[in-house]
Amino acid sequence: MTTAPPPSDAAIARIRSYVAKYRRKTGTSAHPNAAVTESVVLGLAQNVDEVGRPLCPCNFYLDKQTDVEQSRRWVCACDEMKQYKYCHCLLFVTPEGLPITEHLPDGHEGREIYGVVNDPAPDKGREARRHVEAA
Ligand code: SF4
Repeated sequence: MTTAPPPSDAAIARIRSYVAKYRRKTGTSAHPNAAVTESVVLGLAQNVDEVGRPLCPCNFYLDKQTDVEQSRRWVCACDEMKQYKYCHCLLFVTPEGLPITEHLPDGHEGREIYGVVNDPAPDKGREARRHVEAA
């Protein structure tokens, strides 16, 4: 078994900058356990180096390159974040470290796991909410 090389400094810097900006844009916070954030940041940076885009590191892909080229659904910020402000990686969360589930549809696994977690900044983010509301 081979071990993947660590992500490049350039990719890590790009992701850190993006994460800080996107938190401000969406009114979300960092997880209180910095190790949670760090592992997601490194995973996103790894994918930038590998496939050129920040593919979500919390999913399994049969073929990352195909996923990036054909759907983009899981390129960060993923569709679930842009529509429901739900981040299952816990990169964009409430100050208590919980993923926002308030906007998720009933039956979504996020609701089953965490219950209803209210959005502390409902006027921010959800840039693709119209896709959901129009459905
Ligand atoms: S769940 Fe979505 S918003 Fe969260 S890290 Fe993955 S791609 Fe980004």
